Amino acid sequence: MPQLSRRVKSIKPFMVMTVLERALALERQGIDVVHFEIGEPDFDTPQLVRETACQQIRAGATHYTHSRGMPELRERIAAFNRDTRGVTFDPVSEILVSGGTSPLFLMALGAILNPGDEVLVCDPGYPCYENFVEFFQGRVVRVPVYEDHRFDVTPEAIQAGITDKTRAILLNSPSNPTGQINSEEILRIIADLATDHDFWIISDEIYAGIAYDNIKVPSITAIGGVRDRTVLLDGFSKFYAMTGWRLGYTCAPTPLVDDMVKIQQNFFICPPSISQHAGLAAFECGVDTSAMVAEYARRRALIVRGLNELPGVHCLTPAGAFYAFANVREISTNSLSLSRDLLEKAHVATTPGVVFGPHGEGYLRFSFATSLDHIHEGLARLRKYLTR
Ligand code: PLP
Repeated sequence: MPQLSRRVKSIKPFMVMTVLERALALERQGIDVVHFEIGEPDFDTPQLVRETACQQIRAGATHYTHSRGMPELRERIAAFNRDTRGVTFDPVSEILVSGGTSPLFLMALGAILNPGDEVLVCDPGYPCYENFVEFFQGRVVRVPVYEDHRFDVTPEAIQAGITDKTRAILLNSPSNPTGQINSEEILRIIADLATDHDFWIISDEIYAGIAYDNIKVPSITAIGGVRDRTVLLDGFSKFYAMTGWRLGYTCAPTPLVDDMVKIQQNFFICPPSISQHAGLAAFECGVDTSAMVAEYARRRALIVRGLNELPGVHCLTPAGAFYAFANVREISTNSLSLSRDLLEKAHVATTPGVVFGPHGEGYLRFSFATSLDHIHEGLARLRKYLTR
């Protein structure tokens, strides 16, 4: 076989998929597995979205669209951001729609990074960030966050990571895996640091709609003075339960969007046409999204209480997203082997905390995007395993 690229060699596989694949293999043997590993809503996409997509298929909306995304969808996204984040983006030049937020990361980082550039990333944090950065021969600089501080990022930790090579900070609020939400105060500090040291702020707000206790998730896009260095990423996967549709968008300064469009045109041509029509309909599904968030809130209460009742487990209440990040250090400081053991012996699938960075070691992530019944069953199995 001819030689393969060195670029991909350093990239790690997405561990959640490895856990899922083993869980599915057990299921094929007839074993019932409780899934807490999957970061995907168990809800079906709202009915109106599905109906709209069917209608559009019948109407023949099956062609390439504008490479930036359909103008009417970009206008609707602009209106949504004005209403929810209080920020106005120009739908013509500052918004780009693509097949999920994941390819938008590829385009944004591809357009921003040069080899050797450094990107600040929270640890624990979304594992793909590290791989995105390394793909472009950038270097990840970890910004540790600690349970003692409710996983809040601190100005000191960010400052400690800044060098003259810092090109960007990657934010994710609400956070996967901790559910932590950045306050307006810290966002202001980050905005000042980004201005002083001249780096980009890339803000992944894919869980922004999923927050509890009436918290309004602040967006760094609404902080004055950093519009020209801020990249907002949001998508339809989580809030609208549309993971399989592959739809997301970015709002960013025109020169960056223009460069990203060049990548989109060459590699992707345009976002999927049917999904874009579906996305337009999603904005009309407020009743469905409120019901989903209310159900996540019930599940959150059940799983956090249940985890804290287990011997050796401590779990903060996440402020947003649908993950409980449980401290299991009293049971094991090797989250990979604990997660494996739980899957093989208790048939409960979790994500090892170390997947989210070295500071995630000693934790397990439980996705509560699963039914109350499954959560009850999973907790019962964990109790049995831990008290055996
Ligand atoms: N960002 C975070 C923090 C995520 O958790 C995920 C998916 O799990 C994504 C981005 C990817 O989302 P999409 O389906 O829009 O590519």
